[in-house]
Amino acid sequence: MRPPTNVQTSSRPTASDDPARSDVTHPANPAWPEWDEWNVRTEICEIGRRLYHHLFVAANDGNISVRLNEEEIIITPTNVSKGFMNPEDMVKLSLDGRLIASRTGKNASSERRMHLAIYKHRPDIRAVVHAHPPTATGLAVAGIGLDKPFLPEIVVRTGPCPLVPYAIPGGDELPDSIIPYLRDHVTLLLGNHGAVAYAPTLIDAAFNMESIELNARIFLVASQVGHINYFDEGQIAALRTRYS
Ligand SMILES: [Zn+2]
Repeated sequence: MRPPTNVQTSSRPTASDDPARSDVTHPANPAWPEWDEWNVRTEICEIGRRLYHHLFVAANDGNISVRLNEEEIIITPTNVSKGFMNPEDMVKLSLDGRLIASRTGKNASSERRMHLAIYKHRPDIRAVVHAHPPTATGLAVAGIGLDKPFLPEIVVRTGPCPLVPYAIPGGDELPDSIIPYLRDHVTLLLGNHGAVAYAPTLIDAAFNMESIELNARIFLVASQVGHINYFDEGQIAALRTRYS
């Protein structure tokens, strides 16, 4: 973990400072609105601080990425605390995992393959957040998924959060394990590991991660004081009708 003294206000580089800045090198595609790369890097830092201060990650845990355009993603580096990142720290990869730019020489997150698998299988998704929120991760360690809805928000916003069986991190096993779940979900518990959330924007991916942890806490409290009153099919249909 880097000390707080490394936290500094970074200034936006000019295009001539950084030839890898894709916001000035890629023409806008109407189907893929171009996002300003510096803003994306800054927003990733903000979300990283949010995860860190919520204790959703410890030390250098977790990773965040954003799909910048059709061909490129911006992802957090490995071995850096998400609470103390600077925009320059981010790494730019191609959608097939090739290194495009690393301003500080840092390597991309070791979980980059999981992020790339999500973008490959969900072209509507432009942001991925992976963390170890303690209550949700505790359920994942216990082999418990949040498969059935018990709150209106689960029905109308995030959908269920299934448990993906454990796969060893860092290689192809973890991305391969989540592929069957990607099409129908935006939140997943990773067995004996943590959680991953994704969405069309970074703030919504972060909100989905917060929902995983809050739902897990509510599930745990309800389990401790009584039992879970899951919605029945009629209640689920009524919620969908009202909020569709
Ligand atoms: Zn992890």
